[in-house]
Amino acid sequence: MAPGYKFFIQTYGCQMNVYDSAVISTLMEQAGFQPVKTEEEADILIYNTCAVREHAENRAMGRILSAKGRYPLRKIVVVGCMAERRKSELKEKYGIKYVFGPREYKNIPGVLINQEAHYINLNYDDILPEQEGVSAYVSVMRGCNRFCTYCIVPYVRKEEVCRQPENIIDEVKKLIKDGIKEVILLGQNVNRYKYRDINFPELLKWVAEETDIKRLNFLTSHPADISSELFEVMVGHNNITKFIHLPVQSGSDKILNKMNRGYTVRDYKNIVKFARGLIPEITITTDVIVGFPGETDEDFQKTLDFIKEIEFDYAFMFKYSPRKGTLSALFDETITEREKKERLSKLIELQNKITYKKNERLIGRERKILVLGTAKRDGVMGKDATGKLVVFKGDSKRGSFVKINITGITGWTPVGKVVKSVNREM
Ligand code: SF4
Repeated sequence: MAPGYKFFIQTYGCQMNVYDSAVISTLMEQAGFQPVKTEEEADILIYNTCAVREHAENRAMGRILSAKGRYPLRKIVVVGCMAERRKSELKEKYGIKYVFGPREYKNIPGVLINQEAHYINLNYDDILPEQEGVSAYVSVMRGCNRFCTYCIVPYVRKEEVCRQPENIIDEVKKLIKDGIKEVILLGQNVNRYKYRDINFPELLKWVAEETDIKRLNFLTSHPADISSELFEVMVGHNNITKFIHLPVQSGSDKILNKMNRGYTVRDYKNIVKFARGLIPEITITTDVIVGFPGETDEDFQKTLDFIKEIEFDYAFMFKYSPRKGTLSALFDETITEREKKERLSKLIELQNKITYKKNERLIGRERKILVLGTAKRDGVMGKDATGKLVVFKGDSKRGSFVKINITGITGWTPVGKVVKSVNREM
């Protein structure tokens, strides 16, 4: 296959996959292939898959097999975490020739052109992917060494590899030149970033000070690896968003231990206390899993009590489902599907009330908003300096900054009116 052919990428899953699709697209374009926006126009169909939940895998697999049936003459390329997890099945059972795990993306154009299969591990330090819009992701590390017992990521994304800080700075500077206003530094667990003697708070400080980025953010943090230094860097830099996503997963020490999370409920509370002491306006969001094997009514009640006490701004809440290949898939499932659903509904109901209450407290306040674009239903959407999404009426330009007065709540989202436009971050 010669360069010049058109390719289309469909992305499933997390922010890391969104970033990886930009990496793959850049590699393909550098090799002479042309990106297109639909499957119909493309000669090469690339599916960047997720393996974190069964539902995500089934959705991607359905789309891949349907594309295989509809476009028998096109090249189908499956990449990402499911590609790594189900490589032999994809190749042998479904006859998909081009399957690449998350460390193998650099090989894609070469294999498509020359049919070569000299697989080399991906070093991201020499790729500056093209991204456009207001916000962009920048991966600072890959993989995870933590092995939470329910998680497939360490098996498919493999061991942690950190990027050179100089290269990260170069990438952020390039994005700023391309018009990007917000950069989100990505890692499965950014708190374990270490390159030479530079840790994550030092990297964050370096990016905040060495570049003109207007908003700087990061995902995801881990309670067992986070340090007070990180919050000190956040409070000391106006361009760092006062937002942290800190997955807790359970409010029961027994369950946290079974999950191999490496911290206790008390440790977590201490982190929140310190963060809020230093940055009272900080937005804190979390992830929670209900129905983990062995979770009793009492354990679940502890989670509810914990959620009530902490008052997260928002939470991503899930029912536990075992992933083949992880340790917890070997644990006896003690909770029925019905019980899991009931627990999840209770938790969502509680968190929704808290989210509403917390957002309601913003009414009457002024926020400085980075305009992201058109809101789903009506109006314009933007993010404030604590990472909260705000919707307002008006025709403000994407990437500009406006002052908004919060006047109410729709659903759970704060809505407001423009007070004035500003040309720079305040
Ligand atoms: S820290 Fe735990 S949950 Fe997060 S990617 Fe690593 S193993 Fe998975």
